[in-house]
Parts: sequence; C-alpha cells; structure tokens
Amino acid sequence: MSKTISIVIPCFNEQESIFLFYDAVEKVKPSLRGYDIEYVFVNDGSKDQTLNILRKLHQKDEKSIHYLSFSRNFGKEAALYAGLQASKGDYVAVMDVDLQDPPAQLIPMLEGIEDEGYDIVGTRRMNRKGEPMIRSFFSQLFYKMINKISHTQFLNGVRDFRLMTRQVVNAVLQMSEYNRFSKGLFSWVGFDVKYLEYSNRDRIAGKTSWSFWGLFKYSIEGIVNFSEMPLAIASYTGLVSFIISLVSILFIILRKIFFGGSVNGWASMISVILLIGGIQLFCLGILGRYIGNLYLEAKRRPIYIIKEKN
Ligand code: UDP
Ligand code: MG
Repeated sequence: MSKTISIVIPCFNEQESIFLFYDAVEKVKPSLRGYDIEYVFVNDGSKDQTLNILRKLHQKDEKSIHYLSFSRNFGKEAALYAGLQASKGDYVAVMDVDLQDPPAQLIPMLEGIEDEGYDIVGTRRMNRKGEPMIRSFFSQLFYKMINKISHTQFLNGVRDFRLMTRQVVNAVLQMSEYNRFSKGLFSWVGFDVKYLEYSNRDRIAGKTSWSFWGLFKYSIEGIVNFSEMPLAIASYTGLVSFIISLVSILFIILRKIFFGGSVNGWASMISVILLIGGIQLFCLGILGRYIGNLYLEAKRRPIYIIKEKN
C-alpha cells in the first residue's frame, strides 16, 4: 500500500496564498515517490476569506483536502498542535502557506528520512536577507542567550518547516502543555535530525503577522518555557546585594568608631534604596512570569477550540 504524507498548514488571514500553495505542492507531488498527500489546513481564526477558500478547495479535491477551523485566533503553536493531532499520514510535514517554505524541499526531505534513515529532516535558513537589521541583531542575541541558559539546543535560523516520521509526531503530541514553544518542543524530543540549508525568501502574498513586539514576547516565552536560569539569576542577585549590604554595614560601623558620626551621604543612601527596590521588583517580575505560566497550565484549558471541520 502506498504511504501518505500529511502536510499541516496553519493559516491566519492567508486568502491570497492558499490556492498558490496548493498548486505549488501539487506540482511537486509526482516526485514524491507516488505517495498520497493529505493536506491538513488549520484556519486559525482568520478575519478574511480564508475559510471560504478552504471550503472551495475541499470541494475541488475532497479526497486529500482536510481543514479545521478555530473559533478564534489561538496562535500558530495551537494551530500546529491541532494539525498534528488531526494528521493521519506515515510522514508529517509542517509548512507555512506563504511559500517561504519551498515545497520542492519535500523531495530531499523524503530522501533524508527513507534513504538516509533520519527521523526528522528540518530546514535552516543561512541568511536573513530581506529582514530588518535590528531584527536580525536581536534574534542573534536571543539564540546566543537561550543556548547558554537552556539544556535544549536552539540552532539559529531553524524554521518550523520539517518532515517527521509518525513516531516523532506522536512524541511531540505527548507534550500537551498549554504554553507551546514549538521550536523548543521539536528539539526537546530528540531523535536523529538533519537540516537542509537554504536562503531566505519573501512570502508570496499577504504580509507577516509578526511585529517586533510580538517576536520579543515570543522570545521571552521561549526562555521561560525552556530555562529555569532567570529564577537562579533572581536569587543570585538577591545574594549578591545581601553581601554588598553586609560589607557596607561593616564599613559604616568602623567609620563611626574611628572617625565619629556624620550625616553625609543622604543622596547615596536614597539611590541605594532605589537600586535595591528596583532589583526586588525585577526579581518579583521574573517569579511572576513563571507563576503566570503555572497558573495557565493548572487551569488545563483546551489549547484550541474547533468551530468547523470536515
Ligand atoms: N499563523 C497562524 N496563526 C497566527 C500567526 C500566523 O496560523 O496567529 C500562520 C501563518 O498563516 C503562516 C505561518 O503561521 O502560515 C507563519 O506566519 P508568518 O508567515 O506570518 O511568519 P513568518 O514566516 O514571518 O515567520
Ligand atoms: Mg512566513
């Protein structure tokens, strides 16, 4: 029996791209060893015609087009989870609909898995052409930092675009946490991974839904989810300021004994008080992030809600 490749495609306001995407994948299909393709589109609460277009596409190709539609925007991570859960294929690919992930890559990906024996073949972009300089700078910084403080490996430039075996998908699905940082989850499960390298390209239509602020929050999410280091930093900061205050108390006592009292130093005292207050609030904030995540996990809310599917 011929094998099936499932392609999971999260879509958020992508009305222009969907047909183009479908055509592009169908062009590659004959080179995929005659395997069947199962498309799992996930409409992540789009405000445009995305859902209508998916319905139309389904009418055109009932056998291979499947779609789920969320009741609102739950985010790409939730959409990926829903799509992976719904997928049935022997191999599962995750792709963006904007054709930044070239479908032709599926061919070497399949080779990597079937001929070379890898469990995952992912993609890594080797440059950030077309991306604002400042954004590249901060993402470099993010990767440097998170690799220092997390046990999970984060390679710079790895995209979500990948082909996995069913075994890997099942492993990823076992992690049913609410705060999903996919880059980390895919890396955390292990297995043998190969990366194909390619250079960045612009999306075919529409525009990216990522703002700078959105990316910043996303990177904090990654750190909080895959490292306890900030908590350690908070307590070390406390320890260091405790030691400094001990030393300065000693200094004040000695000065009183040898040089007599003085009311000098009011300004410096205020600034020290402010400094310590600031450090305390900062550390409380770090604690708060972890407690906030715990709180969300403890509520056990569903990761997504489906309004319509076929
Ligand atoms: N996406 C989604 N939900 C969101 C944001 C994005 O499902 O809340 C989808 C989007 O439709 C696309 C993919 O995730 O297929 C990647 O989004 P985008 O191209 O905006 O990100 P970039 O490629 O710039 O990282
Ligand atoms: Mg994109």
